[in-house]
Amino acid sequence: MSTTRMELRMRTVGEWAENTYALVCPTTRQSALIDPGAEPETLQAVLADTQPVAILITHTHPDHIGALDAMRTALNVPVMAHPGPHAGSDLAADRWLKDGDTVSVGRHSLQVYYTPGHIGDMVCFSAVGDERVLVGDAIFEGGPGKTESTEDFQTTLRTLHDVILAWPDDTVCYPGHGPHFRLGDKRAVIEAFLGKDHGNFFGDAVWEM
Ligand SMILES: [Zn+2]
Ligand SMILES: [Zn+2]
Repeated sequence: MSTTRMELRMRTVGEWAENTYALVCPTTRQSALIDPGAEPETLQAVLADTQPVAILITHTHPDHIGALDAMRTALNVPVMAHPGPHAGSDLAADRWLKDGDTVSVGRHSLQVYYTPGHIGDMVCFSAVGDERVLVGDAIFEGGPGKTESTEDFQTTLRTLHDVILAWPDDTVCYPGHGPHFRLGDKRAVIEAFLGKDHGNFFGDAVWEM
C-alpha cells in the first residue's frame, strides 16, 4: 500500500512564504496543484513530468491565489474551491466543493473538510487512505490561523474541536506556511488552548496564550 501513496511535492513561494503543494498519482502521473500562491514558473516546475487535472484552493486569501490566473491559463484544468462566504475575493470556481466531497487524482482521491474560522471558505484536503492532510491556514504548528473578528475566532475554536481534533493522532498536517507536523504531537496543547477562556480575542493566536 505504501508504495502506491501519492507523491507530495512542495515549494515555498512569494513574499508571504506560502507553501504550494502538488499531489501526484504515481501510477497515472495525474496531479493536482494546491494553492498557486505566486511564482508561476516555480509552480510549472513542481508539476514536471505530471499531467495536471485540477487546481485546488484551500481558501481565497491573496497569498494562496496570487498565481491562480496564470496557472489556470497555463494548465487549462478545473479550479475547485469552497463557495464561502469569501472575504474580498471574486473567485469563479469551475467546481464548488463542500464538506465530504472527494476529488479524483488518477487512482487516488482527496477528501474535502470544511474548516471555517480563518476565513469563511477554508477547506482542508486529505489524501484518502493515508495520513496526510493539506490544511491551508486552518492550523499551524504554533497555533490556529489568524482571525479577523471574535466571531471568526469562535468559529476557529469550533473547527478545531469538531473537525481537526477528530482526526487520528498519526495525521500529518501540511500547512500553508511553515513546517508540517504530526497532529498527535500537538493534541495536548490544542486541547489546553480550547479549555481556556479567550474572552473577546481575535487575531494571531498561539497555542501557549
Ligand atoms: Zn489565509
Ligand atoms: Zn496564508
